[in-house]
Amino acid sequence: MMELKIQLIPTGEIILPPGKNGENFCHNCKVVASDGVRAMMESALTARDRVGVQDFVLLENYTSEAAFIENLRKRFKENLIYTYIGSVLVSVNPYKDLEIYTKNHMERYRGVNFYEVSPHIYAVADNSYRSMRTEGKDQCILISGESGAGKTEASKKILQYYAITCPASEQVQTVKDRLLQSNPVLEAFGNAKTLRNDNSSRFGKYMDIQFDFKGAPVGGHIINYLLEKSRVVHQNHGERNFHIFYQLIEGGEEDLLRRLGLERSPLQYQYLVKGNCPKVSSINDRSDWKVVRKALTVIGFNEDEVEELLNIIASVLHLGNVQYGGEEGSACITSDTQIKYLARLLGVNGSVLTEALTHKKIIAKGEELMSPLNLEQASSARDALSKAVYGRTFTWLVNKINASLAYTVPDVWVVVCCSFEQFCINYCNEKLQQLFIELTLKSEQEEYEAEGITWEPVQYFNNKIICDLVEEKFKGIISILDEECLRPGDASDFTFLEKLEDTVGGHPHFVTHKLADGKTRKVMGREEFRLLHYAGEVNYNVNGFLDKNNDLLFRNLKEVMVMSENNILTQCFDREELSDKKRPDTAATQFKASLAKLMEILMSKEPSYVRCIKPNDSKQAGRFDEVLIRHQVKYLGLMENLRVRRAGFAYRRRYEVFLQRYKSLCPDTWPNWQGKLADGVSTLVKHLGYKPEEYKLGRSKIFIRFPKTLFATEDALET
Ligand code: ATP
Ligand code: MG
Repeated sequence: MMELKIQLIPTGEIILPPGKNGENFCHNCKVVASDGVRAMMESALTARDRVGVQDFVLLENYTSEAAFIENLRKRFKENLIYTYIGSVLVSVNPYKDLEIYTKNHMERYRGVNFYEVSPHIYAVADNSYRSMRTEGKDQCILISGESGAGKTEASKKILQYYAITCPASEQVQTVKDRLLQSNPVLEAFGNAKTLRNDNSSRFGKYMDIQFDFKGAPVGGHIINYLLEKSRVVHQNHGERNFHIFYQLIEGGEEDLLRRLGLERSPLQYQYLVKGNCPKVSSINDRSDWKVVRKALTVIGFNEDEVEELLNIIASVLHLGNVQYGGEEGSACITSDTQIKYLARLLGVNGSVLTEALTHKKIIAKGEELMSPLNLEQASSARDALSKAVYGRTFTWLVNKINASLAYTVPDVWVVVCCSFEQFCINYCNEKLQQLFIELTLKSEQEEYEAEGITWEPVQYFNNKIICDLVEEKFKGIISILDEECLRPGDASDFTFLEKLEDTVGGHPHFVTHKLADGKTRKVMGREEFRLLHYAGEVNYNVNGFLDKNNDLLFRNLKEVMVMSENNILTQCFDREELSDKKRPDTAATQFKASLAKLMEILMSKEPSYVRCIKPNDSKQAGRFDEVLIRHQVKYLGLMENLRVRRAGFAYRRRYEVFLQRYKSLCPDTWPNWQGKLADGVSTLVKHLGYKPEEYKLGRSKIFIRFPKTLFATEDALET
């Protein structure tokens, strides 16, 4: 069976001709408003002035950032949150529900060309779908933007669009339902309230939707990476743990909680009180619980599996409440209440677990010794176990969802946890940006070549230099980190920093407190290094880099888990892990490998881009914070993107479309042009008085250099 995919990655081609439906082109429309003054003001303005242009390419002053921002502002004020840069969709989070996602809207975008309707996420979805079907090429939709900018919402909108508009049989309906229901489950286990976003995705995700030859969705596959496991054991002030914990506690049925030994109050659990924010006004944990519980069933979890899954979630909460006491040098567990629950819920032997939570197994001269842990070591062993259990269960969950959407055999993908986490996330963004640059330039170049038009090179910042700094073999930051992790003896976060200074100290994108002349930079801490990312400067504190990169779980804790009678855990903790003498890859190396694989997949697909912008830091509707937005426009590389797009020609359109629209302006082409399309267009533009430097004729398209040429032609149509 032919199978094509569209991938959504919550991290095309068009130039808009002035379409009658495009809101920015009804120049002569009269604005009738009851407010006299406003009406006068507005009718004095043309619609184009009022609502801006729907494609930045049409901005007269396209190199001006101020003009760019102004255009965004105008549109935002009118609730027009979508604008194109060529085929890239720029979206500004409205922080309120807009009436633009109805079935009627979906219908409006179905099978319609980009430029015939106003910019919309549905247009991107539809365009990818159609390209997939007509060109037979896999597509991917890359969604990027900072936390809270609207990436997850955008991906959900796209999914809903496909679920509603694509053809479906009964069997396909199941796939559609499961695809849609996988979201609440993934969000429950992988999202959390942060300062920046009440529903922040704390894991990277990308999702495949597979279509059959009829264009019906027949399967899906989700790849997850980089779950922020540390959140399980610690949350910053004003932030929460993953939603599922609160959902279970607030929404779980009485007898369920009793079985799990849980009380109906998040305040009882150490892992839920760190951020001091058990309740969030925008979140209803109780009703979300119902949604998640139902979704688990739709996806195909049976009762036993749900029970085992919840046993694990409850175990993590009990683990968090394990308290240590005893002498400083050898920790012991002060109360066995938790251990009792844990033994039952995890299906392990209580005393073996207790020993593993307080001792470390050392193998010396072929003999196994149990060495006691001090208080600090014991707490971190406990936390390491919680993170491992939760992290692996999350991966299991994703695999399980994949199996239920299965159409292809899922790839094995690594999940890693990682200030170190932020380092990995920024590295990922850096790679996606690189891909964006390469692909937008590449596709632009290819189009020029295909049309036989000379390509004019554009200057742009290539962030390859930063990617290399991070990932290069032997000399890159990850290599140096791995080297320190493997080095026996005195290796520490600090020696890692020193090695960095020695090796990449001279790199233009790397800064530490040490200056070249041997003096020190006062503004930077001694434990920090700074990377000049394409998006801006970020300081990293090296504390914990080695530990997190090693991500070790003591052997005896692994042994306990391997013996578990919980079916999910037996799948999560593999016996082979114990026998394997080889050191597992470090977290950063695993992450690097999964990114490389992701890039490879993405390179082979036809990309579309959605660039999300967050309008303010207070999650408020209607507030347009210019400083914040300017920063995002900069780091998303939107001005560069626009320059690339405008470097040659602002507008391009296939001959037949151009002729169809403007033929009425020339007596020789009206009403029906009989000759070759190219000749018709040539006749038409000569009649319109286009100067040779204003346009070029390619093999199948006309390229027009300046928007004003086009506006004049469009104005001629109106009169
Ligand atoms: P993170 O990186 O933290 O996961 P994100 O980019 O995925 O962030 P979202 O969770 O998609 O951000 O959006 C944050 C919030 O903004 C949503 O919960 C919703 O309230 C609001 N929002 C985003 N997009 C839209 C939209 N198109 N319409 C209405 N509200 C939106
Ligand atoms: Mg998100």
